[in-house]
Amino acid sequence: MDAAESFKDKTFVVSDPDARLRRDDDLMAFALAAGGQVRTIPQGSQVRITEIRVVEAGSQSIIVFGRAASADGIQALGWTSTRNLDGKFMNETIGIVRPEPGASRFGPNAAWSNGEFLGQLDLVSIVDSRLDIERLALKTIDAYMALVAAAAGEGVPITLNSGFRSYPEQKFLHDGFVRGLPGFNTAAKPGFSKHQNGIAFDIAVAGGDGNPTYEWLKRRATGFGFVRTVNKEPWHWELDEPKAQAAKARGTFKTPNVTV
Ligand SMILES: [Zn+2]
Repeated sequence: MDAAESFKDKTFVVSDPDARLRRDDDLMAFALAAGGQVRTIPQGSQVRITEIRVVEAGSQSIIVFGRAASADGIQALGWTSTRNLDGKFMNETIGIVRPEPGASRFGPNAAWSNGEFLGQLDLVSIVDSRLDIERLALKTIDAYMALVAAAAGEGVPITLNSGFRSYPEQKFLHDGFVRGLPGFNTAAKPGFSKHQNGIAFDIAVAGGDGNPTYEWLKRRATGFGFVRTVNKEPWHWELDEPKAQAAKARGTFKTPNVTV
């Protein structure tokens, strides 16, 4: 599997009963047949996604479209929303984001920890729990996918709420928090968020204890190198093999600073 394009060589089942095709020249418009009716891919069809486009619709909503071909690869079907596919493309990686030559410490790939610039990271775009696009450090993708696959094998969903953040993204969140703007939560100062270092993952574990995903992570995550590192944040896990091994050896899933 290509870590940066996990959808390649996979077969997806069309799950939406009204999986509409989009126009080749305008992905926001539906493709029409000669008679004027919207063209669709029948529910249950097996398709391969051969190409991806990300479209920003409005201020927040990001929609991924895939160029679908029939599973045997012979018949090109056209563009459709990946939301029409079984699994809705969650956890699929859709491309690598490399640092621009000469990128600054405030650029989109710049990693930080404790107020210090660490260096530039290769990042991978990945579809999150809300079907928006997050980025993760390329070096963490294999471990994250292994975690996802192991949980899926036991019927437990693992999806991402938040991954890597650049300095400007963290500044935006921090500014909103400081001003008390609606929709903004507590956020660390830019340069100090654990989401700027390339090893932090917020995983959807609504409610914490008792949530099937959280209970699975408590039992299994350290075996994949993931460990809980922040008090009162059951969703926040970091890929840190030594800390995870140490936690496992102590019979826990948390670093010693985590007491609640
Ligand atoms: Zn977090």
